Amino acid sequence: MKKVYGVIGDPIEHSLSPVMHNAAFEALGLDAIYLAFRVPLQNVGNAIRGAESLGFGGLNVTVPLKEAAMRFVRPDELSKRIGAINTINFEAPEGEPNAFNTDGIAAVRVLKENVGSLTKKNVLMLGAGGAAKAIAFYLQNEGARLVILNRTAKRAKELMERLLSSGGAGEVAWGGLEELPTRIKEADILINATSVGMYPNVEETLVTADLMHKDLVVFDVVYNPVETRLLREAKKAGVRHRIDGVKMLVYQGAEAFKIWTGISPPIDVMERAVRERLGGGMEK
Ligand code: NAP
Repeated sequence: MKKVYGVIGDPIEHSLSPVMHNAAFEALGLDAIYLAFRVPLQNVGNAIRGAESLGFGGLNVTVPLKEAAMRFVRPDELSKRIGAINTINFEAPEGEPNAFNTDGIAAVRVLKENVGSLTKKNVLMLGAGGAAKAIAFYLQNEGARLVILNRTAKRAKELMERLLSSGGAGEVAWGGLEELPTRIKEADILINATSVGMYPNVEETLVTADLMHKDLVVFDVVYNPVETRLLREAKKAGVRHRIDGVKMLVYQGAEAFKIWTGISPPIDVMERAVRERLGGGMEK
């Protein structure tokens, strides 16, 4: 019988996960389908239990359900520390974790492909929301020196405290966005983990070319549009390593796919499906 997988969130109609996973199922000849379901926050528990009862193989969980879903699953150690999950495997053996957070692992994989080891690299991360949190825990595991700046500085501080109390290997500092012009001078890697620059506010950026140096690696987790204003500013500044959010999206999906099926999916097929859907870069 066809195996069903899906993503729950609200809103959900623009999710790229169905196109990405269905392309992988097709390429591998698996009898499976991946669908998107709009689930309001108050229904998260019912949705998870319902999907499990219906025999779904697994679910992805997206905004705004990643934290609330924790109560209804058995999260692994790292997602417990992060405080959010994005993948549930209904076929996990009884008593073993069945929920994971694949966002951070995906971001670290993308960065390592571009710069090699992250140990002692100075990473300036903008944002302290869901994506930033997941990335921060993995960066800390890699021994990076992390500075977290956020519009609401208090949230950056809370994230730093959470990182420190979880005993990772790297150094962490925090601040408000006003520290950006000085902090960026010492940075090897800049990560935009805020939603600034995302469709429809495509002309927004927190960092302009005049603040960037050529050796900086600029990674924007925003994938819609693919080439954000931040990445255009980086190009203007002569930055060689400019990384868009699509690879991270594909890698977090690929990790989930592996958890569900035990198979490493064809990354190139998934990436092509996403980039084709994003077309000129804009998903409306
Ligand atoms: P979130 O939890 O809502 O966090 C939003 C973050 O953006 C917060 O740090 C917020 O600061 C900051 N922010 C929002 N508007 C701002 C503004 N005008 N000026 C300065 N800071 C602002 O969202 P999220 O889930 O972390 O998602 C963030 C982005 O990452 C989205 O674009 C999402 O699509 C993308 N994402 C990409 C991937 C991928 O695989 N590539 C995965 C996950 C998420 P405050 O705390 O001050 O509000």
